[in-house]
Amino acid sequence: MIRQALDQLKHQIPLLDYLQGHHWQSTGRLSRGRWMGLCPLHQDHKPSFVVDTSKNLFYCYGCGRGGDVIRFAELYHQVRFPQALGLLCQWRGMAPLLHETTRLYGMQLQRHAEAVVYLQQRGVRSPELIEHMRIGYAPGGCLRGWLTQLGYPLHALHQAGLVTAAGYDAYIHRIVFPLEGNLYGRSISATAPPHRLLPGTKGGLYCWEHVRQYPEVILVEGLFDYAVLWQAGFHNVTCSMGTQLNPYQFRQLCDGMRTVYLAFDADANGSGQHATQVLAHRLNQQRVTVGTVELPKGHDPNSFFVDGADAGQFQALLEAARP
Ligand SMILES: [Zn+2]
Repeated sequence: MIRQALDQLKHQIPLLDYLQGHHWQSTGRLSRGRWMGLCPLHQDHKPSFVVDTSKNLFYCYGCGRGGDVIRFAELYHQVRFPQALGLLCQWRGMAPLLHETTRLYGMQLQRHAEAVVYLQQRGVRSPELIEHMRIGYAPGGCLRGWLTQLGYPLHALHQAGLVTAAGYDAYIHRIVFPLEGNLYGRSISATAPPHRLLPGTKGGLYCWEHVRQYPEVILVEGLFDYAVLWQAGFHNVTCSMGTQLNPYQFRQLCDGMRTVYLAFDADANGSGQHATQVLAHRLNQQRVTVGTVELPKGHDPNSFFVDGADAGQFQALLEAARP
């Protein structure tokens, strides 16, 4: 990429927007457009990360690293320069589209009783949780019109995977959860495939920037597991979206001193238990302390709570977790 294109990319992605898109929160404003917060690049306990919005640069007084948005993407995603450029280009294209999609689907949720009923069946009730996860509903047949009206060309919607080749909304009758650079959709109808993601990476661990500060972290495999635990007050929970962690998610779990509680599904066929064993072994090799949570047979954290368990009962499982 030539110099001019690099400058253009940096100009189009304000560092602060990119940081906030990755759940970074500032803890205070300094003079001359500078913001301070916890460093997303190292285990930071007091704010040492400064963002200068006028220069579009960052510097951390804790780990001594600094630079522009490209340097930040390299360090944050632990990739080389060309891959960082690729991630930034992808983010530049997807971020506004996903933002508008999330906004529309968020508005649709309360307009569709079947969606609210489904959420209740899965134990999702609190408005704070719905706001925290930005849960929405894709009824189908409204996204394409909404986005084209906002000026997005049809080919961009198709390329992003939001609209099918035939021109229809890709997400129909699905509860949707925005992820970093993707969108998870859970079908509420029994006849459609249950899970849907946009093409491309499922991204890092869910809400990792909120969770990584905790000395003890609970890892679950599904967003509905995440939802009921968060609702029950376990805000140190994260989700890998499946039992197979991608390399980036695995590195995130290993990036500091912490105990990881694995709370995957207790499948009748033992596949969840097997995935737990494999991951526990890999984490132990990286000197991460692991606790294996044993749910009653046939349960996942979501069904455990839906069946009437409360925070105290899950806490007891955490305390009884096997090393
Ligand atoms: Zn740092």
